[in-house]
Amino acid sequence: MRRPLVAGNWKMHGSRAETARLIEELLAQAPAEPAAQSVICPPFVYLHEAWRLLRDSIFSLGAQDVCAESHGAFTGEISAAMLKDVGCEYVIVGHSERRLLYRESDQLVARKFAAAHARGLVPILCVGEQLADREAGRTSEVVTRQLDVVLELCGAGALEHGLIAYEPVWAIGTGRNATPEQAQEVHALLRARIASRDARIADATRILYGGSVKAGNAAELFAMPDVDGGLIGGASLKADEFLSILAAARISG
Ligand code: PEP
Repeated sequence: MRRPLVAGNWKMHGSRAETARLIEELLAQAPAEPAAQSVICPPFVYLHEAWRLLRDSIFSLGAQDVCAESHGAFTGEISAAMLKDVGCEYVIVGHSERRLLYRESDQLVARKFAAAHARGLVPILCVGEQLADREAGRTSEVVTRQLDVVLELCGAGALEHGLIAYEPVWAIGTGRNATPEQAQEVHALLRARIASRDARIADATRILYGGSVKAGNAAELFAMPDVDGGLIGGASLKADEFLSILAAARISG
């Protein structure tokens, strides 16, 4: 049985005051014992203050990215140890905005996954195809390649403390979500790929769906057997919307 997880990726939004206000709204309206786990990923500079405000709440803290190196002369980068130091438990790696806008390769993403894992952070590995890939029938090839590079470098065992987020690039921030059937098809494929290395870990690995999830479509997406929650962008910036999505994630099976 996999406990679902709903994570909010706040991207580069907000200010100190807005971050505090959003957290206060979340805390004020949060259920005492949600069925799903929940993770909030604010921008780096607000992480520590977010940790202070979220301490002892139902929300865990995550970062949006991490450096693949452990320390040293890497101007502007943030290490996994630093993220741990300010209270993070999770970190997103390989978000499509990092892959596409900052040219992060599959290999770099895998090294980031390894760096996070080595420091005891739970990496959330994002994979997903672009619209042209889907239209050309290459979805399976793309997501399998993105996953395989991590499995090669870290082994299937690393997923014991990691998550995958399937995020079709054409669905991110576009308002056009994958249908539940489209999401299920790719989630099942990813799980089968992990199972070809380790069936027990495949069964236990949580695979989140991301891409225009809203209160109005979360329940039907989360009802699919291989969809174990969501990675939420735009809708995570509104407390009531995010909490409705969290409420839609239930334990099944
Ligand atoms: C994301 O950026 O990870 C995401 C899923 O965004 P949105 O929910 O806004 O599509």
